[in-house]
Amino acid sequence: MKVGLIGGTGFYDLFGALEEKVIKTPFGTVTLFQGVHEDKEVYFLPRHGTTHGVLAPDVNYKANMSALKISGVERVLAVSAVGSINPDIPVGSVSLLDQFVDMTRRRDQTFGAFSADMTEPFCQEIKSSILSASKTLGLSIYEDVTLVGVDGPIYETRQELQLFRTWGMDVVGMTNTTEAALARELGLCFSVITLSTDMATGFAETPPNLEAHRKVAEENKGKMKNLVLQTLSNLESNTDCSCTVPYQNAQNAAI
Ligand SMILES: [Zn+2]
Repeated sequence: MKVGLIGGTGFYDLFGALEEKVIKTPFGTVTLFQGVHEDKEVYFLPRHGTTHGVLAPDVNYKANMSALKISGVERVLAVSAVGSINPDIPVGSVSLLDQFVDMTRRRDQTFGAFSADMTEPFCQEIKSSILSASKTLGLSIYEDVTLVGVDGPIYETRQELQLFRTWGMDVVGMTNTTEAALARELGLCFSVITLSTDMATGFAETPPNLEAHRKVAEENKGKMKNLVLQTLSNLESNTDCSCTVPYQNAQNAAI
């Protein structure tokens, strides 16, 4: 089975020797890194480019998801850093996304062929694999977490975040809503594990600090890697989830 892994640059050393694959898509060229984990062929996609230089609004999401599809990937696991707006999810927490509210306004997030069903935006089967992986590892994970997606790269105002919290949002992030919508159109299974690297502005006593955020990511790298590997081990090749319904028109537009 071919599995996609979308994450930061911290995952390069996860699969030993990686083979660089340059994939041409109708939306641009994407570099993927192919490795192996047990019986899975893994295609690692560094979301922000190989040097982490591309800001969230500038990521070429359509090219990225299209490249995974063209490579024959069926399931995609994504790992993201988020800000917590739920005080019960402290910095350093790992969460499994269940729902999202998309507040992005400037994203090209559809291949434009049909209206995809997003009632359950994430793959139930990958979610089960993530949960059982966390149990195997004895790692606590927050379930049923709702993300609010924002454009970035600027951070939100205090009042925006307070509003999101009154809506019941738990974490805020800039990438996953777009990835999830495109994955669904392509019939790709897609789920997300997040790491809360800070309390978002208005919920923290200190202003956003990139260094502090990187420090939390570094401190938690080991557990995130273990969770990713164990989740990949748990993924079964047979699937009866509904994500893979072939949306041929969208797929034709994307490859
Ligand atoms: Zn699925």
